[in-house]
Amino acid sequence: MDYQKILFDIYSELKGTDNKGKVASYIPELANINADKFGIHLLTIDGGSYGIGDFNERFSIQSIAKVFSLSLAYKIYDKKLWGRVGVEPSGNPFNSLVQLEYESGVPRNPFINSGALVICDILTDTLKNPKIDVLNFIRKLAGNESINFNYKVAESEKKSGYRNAALINLMKSYGNIKNDVDEVLDFYYHLCSVEMSCNELSQSFMFFANEGVHKNEKILNGSQTKRMNALMQTCGFYDEAGEFSFKVGLPGKSGVGGGIAAVHPGKYTVVSWSPKLNRKGNSYLGMKALEVLTTKTKLSIF
Ligand code: GLU
Repeated sequence: MDYQKILFDIYSELKGTDNKGKVASYIPELANINADKFGIHLLTIDGGSYGIGDFNERFSIQSIAKVFSLSLAYKIYDKKLWGRVGVEPSGNPFNSLVQLEYESGVPRNPFINSGALVICDILTDTLKNPKIDVLNFIRKLAGNESINFNYKVAESEKKSGYRNAALINLMKSYGNIKNDVDEVLDFYYHLCSVEMSCNELSQSFMFFANEGVHKNEKILNGSQTKRMNALMQTCGFYDEAGEFSFKVGLPGKSGVGGGIAAVHPGKYTVVSWSPKLNRKGNSYLGMKALEVLTTKTKLSIF
């Protein structure tokens, strides 16, 4: 398969199209990005590396980081996690409050904001220095020590994070947050502010394609890896998870920085970045690029 040519074709086909998306501005610092950035990187399980456009430029990974924090918590807590957070698609926006009240402070899944906040609370209990420990975990997976938080983005999100503050306080009132809410929020905002390139993200997602193994280290066991992929498949795109399955057919996770990381277990990882988002908060062009990729390669999991 000539992946480089396929990426080139996708890029040429989409670059000039009318992008109807909008850059996220509810976190003011995110609005400063050049909206025309566009990159894709694909990494095959046997090490083939293919990129096009801005695939080496770092961007705000936002909710894609929730996959890393969940993996770390899953590694430590295994099945015990599922008493604090569910595994069902939410069918609601990522920062919705209503469902959380109906369901007594137990988030539907770990990828909506409330669920990710519970995971941050759990890691705050366990890790000595949660921010640094998660950052080091990401650096190891990506093979790059220079990956870091963007402190301006974290600060900007803290200043404008009224909904996240509401979510965590509601869960605290139900007893599903153990630690100080400000400490957990601070951890969460830093986690979301991590910056990585498509290339680095595709490296760091490779263990999901490789039965949980990174280089020679088992990060998650086979069953945990299967379940992480299942969660990405069913919950990785908020209330557009069905649409992503329908059009792309890969487990994956999006972020409001415009990134999408996806996995074909046993075959490849692929990451796209284009900052303009559709109305559901997923990258407008990224969704299209991955749809064309699995159509042209005929390599989706379905
Ligand atoms: N930091 C963002 C928030 O809490 C993450 C949302 C996302 O990427 O989906 O709103």
